[in-house]
Amino acid sequence: MVIAVRTLDEGAWVNVNNTRIVGVSNVWKLARHDICDCGVAFFVVEVFTDVGVDGRRVEARAGGQCIGCGERGTTGWLQVGKMGESRFRSVAVEGVHSPK
Ligand SMILES: [Zn+2]
Repeated sequence: MVIAVRTLDEGAWVNVNNTRIVGVSNVWKLARHDICDCGVAFFVVEVFTDVGVDGRRVEARAGGQCIGCGERGTTGWLQVGKMGESRFRSVAVEGVHSPK
């Protein structure tokens, strides 16, 4: 199964198999992160810096800003979607880093 992943519009979208699955301006509630000192960061996504595939998981790193404290940073790898039996599905970003 081939999953073609790339960013579009200079990092504004994550595109999987020619479908835009997640875009900037989303707010991710990150419980585990190293963006700032907030226990839970409400992170406004401004740009997708990297996308990748790990098995059936589609992952991305994003740059942006924590609403709570204003700190800016880049996330670690976060799962944004997965390939199901017949089609791709996006998943809620939970903010759990996978070490890479
Ligand atoms: Zn913060």
